[in-house]
Amino acid sequence: MAGKKKVGVGSNAAECVKVVVRCRPLSQGEVGDGKKGIVNIDTKLGQIAIKNPKLEEKEPAKNFTFDIVYNWNTEQITLYQETASPIVDSCLEGYNGTIFCYGQTGTGKTFTMEGNLGDDKTKGIIPNAFDHVFRAIETSQDDKKFLVRASFLEIYNEEVRDLLSKNSANTKLELKENVDTGVYVKNLTSFVVKGVSEIHNVLAVGKKNRTVGTTLMNRDSSRSHSIFTIVIECSETVNADSGDSKIRVGKLNLVDLAGSERQSKTGATGERLKEATKINLSLSALGNVISALVDGRSGHIPYRDSKLTRLLQDSLGGNTKTVMVANIGPADYNYDETMSTLRYANRAKNIKNKPRINEDPKDAMLREFQTEIARLKAQLQNAGNPEAPRAGPTEAAEVSQADKEQIKREVEQEMRSKGADLLSPESKRRLEEESEERCKEVARNLMKEQEALKEESKRIAMETERAQQETASQQQQLEEARKRKLAIENRVKLMEAKLLQGERRGGLLEDTKAKEREVLSFQRKLAERKMEEQEHAQKIAELEEQALYAEDNYATVQDEASSKTKKLKKLLHRYKATKNEIEEVACDFQSEKEDLLESVRFLNRQLQLKNKIISSFIPIEETKKVMKRAQWDEEKDAWLLERLSNVSESDNSANMKRPQSASGAKRPVSEYAKVAAALGDQNPRFKGENILVMELDLPDRTTYDYDEDSVGDAQAALDTILHSEQRQGAGNILPLDNISVNSPSFTDDMSLKLKKDEKKKRMKMRRMSSIM
Ligand code: ADP
Ligand code: MG
Repeated sequence: MAGKKKVGVGSNAAECVKVVVRCRPLSQGEVGDGKKGIVNIDTKLGQIAIKNPKLEEKEPAKNFTFDIVYNWNTEQITLYQETASPIVDSCLEGYNGTIFCYGQTGTGKTFTMEGNLGDDKTKGIIPNAFDHVFRAIETSQDDKKFLVRASFLEIYNEEVRDLLSKNSANTKLELKENVDTGVYVKNLTSFVVKGVSEIHNVLAVGKKNRTVGTTLMNRDSSRSHSIFTIVIECSETVNADSGDSKIRVGKLNLVDLAGSERQSKTGATGERLKEATKINLSLSALGNVISALVDGRSGHIPYRDSKLTRLLQDSLGGNTKTVMVANIGPADYNYDETMSTLRYANRAKNIKNKPRINEDPKDAMLREFQTEIARLKAQLQNAGNPEAPRAGPTEAAEVSQADKEQIKREVEQEMRSKGADLLSPESKRRLEEESEERCKEVARNLMKEQEALKEESKRIAMETERAQQETASQQQQLEEARKRKLAIENRVKLMEAKLLQGERRGGLLEDTKAKEREVLSFQRKLAERKMEEQEHAQKIAELEEQALYAEDNYATVQDEASSKTKKLKKLLHRYKATKNEIEEVACDFQSEKEDLLESVRFLNRQLQLKNKIISSFIPIEETKKVMKRAQWDEEKDAWLLERLSNVSESDNSANMKRPQSASGAKRPVSEYAKVAAALGDQNPRFKGENILVMELDLPDRTTYDYDEDSVGDAQAALDTILHSEQRQGAGNILPLDNISVNSPSFTDDMSLKLKKDEKKKRMKMRRMSSIM
């Protein structure tokens, strides 16, 4: 019974996983084969009635009630608006949302999720969500900025593959968990997208990689789960003056699950069965998670049992708004699978989530973008024009020359002023001497000046050179700074272009945007109204049901009898339906059990094979040591062997140390090798320890070494034959057998053969001993 969905109000209110069922039309092939429809859908009440084709016509149909049910006439856009659109809206507000399709292969999961991408009428949830997201951004208020990114992955055989990576076929990704962001895929590629066409390109690349991988590895895409994720980050200014903003991040997972059909039905064996076991594993893990969440008895929810459940952890019992679309086929031959899908869906609708808005999460890319843009802009402002190069000193000092005559005259004048007789030879001599002395001093000064001048001009030359160099490097710096500035400007432009804003996208006028918003909210209200009506109808049905059990007052006995007969009939009908249901569930349970047992048997056989290999080729004590070292790593989901160096020395039982060299030997040597060496085998090392012997298995030898003796014997035998031939007469040739038997040298031949055989045997023995 579809109860009320909302438990409490407000952003932290718990709400149930919304479950809708979609039944596809009978395919042409099914119509051609005369298959009959067994599904009856009441879209108003949200009910599905399904008849068991194995039972008689008059037996009651099994009824299920869901949030919404869609029949074969439902258009893609109707399903989108009623089922997916509210989730996408929530993601735009900062909630996490998941929409996943569950059902047997061929029931329309991919049709519902993707549909025909290029066709407006038949395109599915994913392309409609693309349009929705970017339309919402276009019509958003101007103070909001968005950053949208997309990733695409596939889970196949419990391995996660990045569908957007270049070598997606070979890269298996790991799952990680983080307190802030929950479970995530390490190193998963994601692309920032600026519009519908870009995100369509991302989808196309992923789909192509998926097909290539599928063909390359001979897989069936219906056996893998695919998850297309759109992350929408939105920053909104909360204080226009300070420029403070808050960031909300919504994550939308669009999941197309692997076919839910029982694998044993397909008769899979070997590798296929192995795959099937794992596919079943992740889907049955999903079922177990749902059961654990719904009955709530055990506190432990086995999310870790499969990659799928770990990745959907937040969507099931977490902080996500989740919609499950259960796809079914209408035909009779699908009865078992259809019932199984409906039961699965019926359980899922009781899962409670607590959606909440992701506000300012640590990993918001938008915050990083904004910080980076602000930093780059500041850098641009600070990057003024670098200083112009300083001019270097260019002036050079003037140099004057002293005149000897002038000095002489000066000395003459000085002497005269002192009253000296310049005509006397004594004075003449003094004048000459004094002048000479003065000249020498001037010359000395001149020398000094010249030297100082030389020094000065050298210094000036050096400084000029340095100044020139500085100018060149400053010019270069200037050029580099200009280039850097240009690069930063481009980067800012590029980053800003990735931030989407209502105003930028399409440049719509405010009133047009408001009108568009109105239309969208009207559509939303319409869908809500429909849901309300359906809830009312369901409520009425529920009340009618309760009235069935209520005690009534009757006016007459007849009234009572007729009313009670009616009730009895209804209850009998109900009893039969329930009885059938119990039988079917028991049957279903039995076959599920058989499937599981089959998996257990298969795994046991695998285990036995591995044990056989281990016990045949690895000594028991080695196995024990390895077992002791092995440790289960939850994170990596694998057994890890501790490094030998990490094993504690005191742990003698593990005996993990490398063997010591035997005394007198250069390196570790086995007992066998020691004995073999003593017996003369010069290369006995490690042979006893080898598991595989890489020696060639030689064919029997057919040519032999030249041996003069035996040739001599043969020659004698030939002579004897020729001799006897002559005796018997020409033309009368003896048969070859006779020759050897009757020939006198028969014994010689025999011993020759024996010799050769002996030699062969010896060679064989030698080969054998080297192998052992
Ligand atoms: P699944 O992904 O579950 O294996 P598909 O989406 O591939 O199934 O659907 C199988 C076929 O059924 C496709 O040819 C698809 O076009 C068709 N189909 C599925 N659902 C519908 C529907 N509601 N209306 C029309 N055709 C549908
Ligand atoms: Mg499919």
